[in-house]
Amino acid sequence: MSAPLARGATRFAPTPTGRLHVGNARTALLSWLWGRSLGLRNVLRVEDLDPAAIPAGCLEGQYADLAWLGLVWDEGPREGGPFGPYRQSARGDRYDAALAALDALGLLYPCYCSRREVAQATRAPHASDEGPVYPGTCRPTLGAVLGDLSAVPTRAGRPAALRLDVARALAYLGWSSVVFDDRVAGPQAFDVVETMGDFVVRRSDGVAAYQTACAWDDAEMACTHVLRGDDLLASAARQALLLALWGGPRPVYAHVGLVVTPSGERLAKRDNAVTIEVDRLAGRPPHALLARLAATCGLPASHDLDTLAAALTVGPALAQPAVWG
Ligand code: GLU
Repeated sequence: MSAPLARGATRFAPTPTGRLHVGNARTALLSWLWGRSLGLRNVLRVEDLDPAAIPAGCLEGQYADLAWLGLVWDEGPREGGPFGPYRQSARGDRYDAALAALDALGLLYPCYCSRREVAQATRAPHASDEGPVYPGTCRPTLGAVLGDLSAVPTRAGRPAALRLDVARALAYLGWSSVVFDDRVAGPQAFDVVETMGDFVVRRSDGVAAYQTACAWDDAEMACTHVLRGDDLLASAARQALLLALWGGPRPVYAHVGLVVTPSGERLAKRDNAVTIEVDRLAGRPPHALLARLAATCGLPASHDLDTLAAALTVGPALAQPAVWG
């Protein structure tokens, strides 16, 4: 993969399965301000790998929420741009090429295990953020190139998912772990073999896995700075591994603390009380919400985006969860 010649970018990459809540808005705001403060492009990428799971009008609602906050995008599904399409559902051919590149290295294998079988075969206590660590049931002893990935055979009627042979991938790179410096979370070292195992890069329905699509798009869209919730910190290790295998550039990562309720629970999109839409549809100006969000980021309680961008420091202080209640 050759790095596209472009000014760098930050991106906000929502999955439009529900309305934006204040946690999403805080991440969108921080990412946007970071881009603005560094003179980068602000990209909106829609992560709709499962178009059937997207409720009608959801993307439009998210766009309206973001616009209400004053967040306008240099590139995105509506705005267009040189690295489109900006909806993952329209980028399948690119992910096929990305997967073929991994296969050419002999690093992929078909896996026929159901979730249940993986859970049963996993020796406790290993569990990752993506569920139980895969015990390697379908992993071949020798790596092999599968060839035509559109023709991976089924087994007993079951379609195959494709997994990355993580130990082989590390050996190929000459790495013993995945190491990176996170602007907010600090230095990271992930023993991906032990703590994550061979993760799925293409799902059994033939669609690219989130890790594949996200990492590929970050590189192809020249997203040099990735700011998102710290629930995705371990994903960054998988994505950094994939990017290294593709020879693509690794973004600067910044994983910020999530917004939580006073009792410490994560916000959910279905929780109407904290959606942006409630304020927007009530006809309220965004000022109060922006100032309140800014205050949770250690910024002046201003609703002026340029003032906020000028005051922003993306650093360890943003690792703390932001209590909203
Ligand atoms: N689409 C993911 C989400 O909505 C975010 C992915 C990312 O920022 O890398 O949680």
